[in-house]
Amino acid sequence: MRPVLTLFIAVTIVILVLPTMIVGSWEKVAPTPSLEQPGVKIQVYITDSQQLMPLALEDYVKGVVAAEMPASFHLEALKAQAVAARTYAVKRARVFGGRGCDAHPGADLCTDPGHCQAWLPAAELQKKWGMIEYSSNWTKISQAVEETAGQIITYQGVVIDPLFHSTCGGQTEDAGAVWQQSFPYLVPVTCTYCQHSPKLKAEQKFSLSAFAAALRELDGTIAVTAQGLKSQAPALTVAEKTATGRVATVKLGSSSLKATALRHALGLNSTRFTYKIEGEQIVFQVQGYGHGVGMCQYGADGMGKAGKDYGAILKHYYQGTEVTKLR
Ligand SMILES: [Zn+2]
Ligand SMILES: [Zn+2]
Repeated sequence: MRPVLTLFIAVTIVILVLPTMIVGSWEKVAPTPSLEQPGVKIQVYITDSQQLMPLALEDYVKGVVAAEMPASFHLEALKAQAVAARTYAVKRARVFGGRGCDAHPGADLCTDPGHCQAWLPAAELQKKWGMIEYSSNWTKISQAVEETAGQIITYQGVVIDPLFHSTCGGQTEDAGAVWQQSFPYLVPVTCTYCQHSPKLKAEQKFSLSAFAAALRELDGTIAVTAQGLKSQAPALTVAEKTATGRVATVKLGSSSLKATALRHALGLNSTRFTYKIEGEQIVFQVQGYGHGVGMCQYGADGMGKAGKDYGAILKHYYQGTEVTKLR
């Protein structure tokens, strides 16, 4: 009897106890957002006036969409942007379990686009667009936000980091290739939809002396001069590319430099570039605009124009994700 009893106990544990433990621990790591009570406000730090402003989530999302995407974009692109903006807010806001904006104590989010998300109040939008356009733009943005009210993006039940950029130039980039951290939903996808972006291709020129000065400022150990760039060919080489063909590192003599750092120092549109030295200038041919990770905004517009809805847009740029509703 004993072995039978032991087996019975073991089977009972496997059937009844183990699933409870697994579900229990999963719930701990992946809390489902469950707060959308009427009147819930998030604290937004307005970077310009340096003040905290309490805003209802959906009102905040409207100001983000208006600031982060041209209102002329296809309605489905604006809806995709609305869901991404709401997802970002829910991920950060303390009332939904987020950690808040770590640059401004007491704030859930700030309006600095370099830190959290851009956001513009009605008065600024009226100035930016003029009164007549304001009315039609605001109606369109409100429609995009209201038709997606409460919707967020999750990956296996967890709220995602919905990164986006202007124009990928043909293929999006892996998050791990730009920063140190990879995410299963921020992986490269082909994008044939941003061909109409004014930022698809650009030529950016710098005098060799300005270029050398920018490099020295970036890294004091770099002893590059305009003369050196011209004569010691090749003084500057591409040392490494990412899997999607963006420049990862460049080499200057014995120093190497991350292309993302070079991009920020020079204000290059993206790291998808080639360059050549012409006389006293260095000329960059740059494709796309932004870091290239996550949703390509011009691509979203192109997908909308091609008849795709916002759900399809989000699932394309955020692989393996679901659009779910806050409860
Ligand atoms: Zn912030
Ligand atoms: Zn694209």
